[in-house]
Amino acid sequence: MSDSTDEQYPEVAYCDDCFELMMKNEEDSGIVGEVNYEDHHGDECQRCGKTVEEERAEQEGK
Ligand SMILES: [Zn+2]
Repeated sequence: MSDSTDEQYPEVAYCDDCFELMMKNEEDSGIVGEVNYEDHHGDECQRCGKTVEEERAEQEGK
């Protein structure tokens, strides 16, 4: 495991908003491949480009 933020992860990451949207939109499709934000992803939302830090700031409600 490396802490490098330059690494590209094969999983796609989505912010909570997009994750919820996709789960609703795709609940009939049976597609299972979404990966919610995890600290080790260190990635942007593949849908809206929101970063983990931005998501975290929103969740703090400040
Ligand atoms: Zn998003």
